[in-house]
Amino acid sequence: MEKKKKVIIIGAGLAGMSAGCYLQMNGFDTEIFESYSMPGGLCASWKRKDFNIDGCIHFMEGTAPTEVYYPFWNNLIDMKSIDFVFFDSHSVVDDRDGNRIHFYSDIDKLEEEFLTKAPEDKVQIRKFIKLVRKFNKLRLPIEKPFEVMTITDKLKVARTMLPYLIIMRKYLNITNHEFASRLKNPTLKYAIETAFVGHMPLFYSIMPLVWRNKKDTGYPKGGASLISRMMEKSYTDLGGQIHFKSKVKKIITKTNAARGIQLENGDTHYCDMVVNAADGRTAVYDLLDGKYKDKNIIERYESDTFETIDKTLYVTIGLNRDFSDVPRKIYFELDKPVYIDKLTTMEHLEVTHYCDDPSSAPEGKSLLALMPEAKDWEYWYNLRQNDKKKYREEKKRVANDVIDALEWKFGNIKDHIEMIDVVTPATYIRYTNNWTGGQISWKATKKTFGKPTTWQIKGLDDFYMTGQWAGTSGGLINVVMMGNHLVQIICKKEGIKFTDKAKTK
Ligand SMILES: Cc1cc2nc3c(=O)[nH]c(=O)nc-3n(C[C@H](O)[C@H](O)[C@H](O)COP(=O)(O)OP(=O)(O)OC[C@H]3O[C@@H](n4cnc5c(N)ncnc54)[C@H](O)[C@@H]3O)c2cc1C
Repeated sequence: MEKKKKVIIIGAGLAGMSAGCYLQMNGFDTEIFESYSMPGGLCASWKRKDFNIDGCIHFMEGTAPTEVYYPFWNNLIDMKSIDFVFFDSHSVVDDRDGNRIHFYSDIDKLEEEFLTKAPEDKVQIRKFIKLVRKFNKLRLPIEKPFEVMTITDKLKVARTMLPYLIIMRKYLNITNHEFASRLKNPTLKYAIETAFVGHMPLFYSIMPLVWRNKKDTGYPKGGASLISRMMEKSYTDLGGQIHFKSKVKKIITKTNAARGIQLENGDTHYCDMVVNAADGRTAVYDLLDGKYKDKNIIERYESDTFETIDKTLYVTIGLNRDFSDVPRKIYFELDKPVYIDKLTTMEHLEVTHYCDDPSSAPEGKSLLALMPEAKDWEYWYNLRQNDKKKYREEKKRVANDVIDALEWKFGNIKDHIEMIDVVTPATYIRYTNNWTGGQISWKATKKTFGKPTTWQIKGLDDFYMTGQWAGTSGGLINVVMMGNHLVQIICKKEGIKFTDKAKTK
């Protein structure tokens, strides 16, 4: 029998575990080396007092069995066994005068809501909703990555995408901010500006509305830890092995091919291929000493084409009070701004509660999560490095201001607080080694649209990259799908017929 090729994967986030599962299915012998003591990377939950903090999932895409993303999950974890919550309203936005816009998941209800609240913007609303309805019919051709497509596949993609190309290009050239500026009604204008990320092309805000309309996005009861543990179990059931507390310090190369890794403790492990599923910049510039770069890597890390996402804090509050009568996610304008750091002052906050998930808090209690921006990530990082006492004080200061804001908005908060937890970009860097401590990698912009995934670096054989830094952005379904796509590419190169099914024993 032919000896199985050995693959070492760096990082047991969802990207690494997905790639590991598909490699195992296709006859490779894999091991994952993970610096932390648990699987999941950014897809993590942690316990504080009575509360189980979901540090990641607000919404998980790929939940509709008839839609194109679903199989990427379902090949790896039993999606039917997960109890998903689908929300009638994704979020609401309240301005300071108490006017509210509901972002209903159902597109007809959303249209009715916009038209009722802002009849003077009928023309823009109808145009916008028409666009969502148009994309609602699109089935994205994502079964295969471009790199393995045949001419027939490419023609099929062209046929599917052709009716959408002109319109996509148009709405890639309009930012959410520009779209909002065309609206006359101040409440709707404020709602769009607040709920949609201002600098992002409007096109990127349309797809989430489509997914919500199709129930292709939901919340899994059990949250981030459930998903990460399910992925870990699938990987180990397929024969893979995860080494925790094993930080990779160097990628070993020989005659311009990756041949192994060296850990922080000096141990070395050899293999036929290395897959980096951890921070991309660290892999290129530290683990490989910056010796291998091609034009795509230079564009990604050394030009202004790709920008990292604006960083946030993650403030969670455990309340001894039922909060379920409040909308699940609410953006609200503040009476007075909250200062975060020298680059960030918040004029509004966004709060999500987890009352629909009994695993988040005991009955009658509620877990709230807020993500105020923290654009000056280096401030938080350096403060933690140099002055832990001040770092703790700063976290407390922000938490107190956030609590004041919640008290002003909802009342009956301060007397019910049982737990406060503040995570900063420094925390994400510490636990996941993600370069700038953001929740995902790159900003989705017009400039990065259609940029190639950096699966490989020209000049270095047997080295592959996956996960949020290799693509144009992050998000769970993206990195899970990338695991599948990467293994299709590796199989093609190795002359193996790709399968997405586990071999029956
Ligand atoms: C607050 C927050 C909210 C989010 N909300 C959502 C959401 O609602 N929906 C959604 O889809 N996505 C959400 N995301 C984004 C999503 O979590 C990420 O895009 C995704 O988990 C990235 O996965 P990854 O495997 O590429 O990277 P990571 O999760 O960063 O995994 C990389 C792994 O590599 C390990 N590692 C790093 N360096 C080394 C090394 N040198 N040696 C060994 N191991 C190493 C890390 O410890 C980590 O486990 C959110 C993220 C955050 C933080």
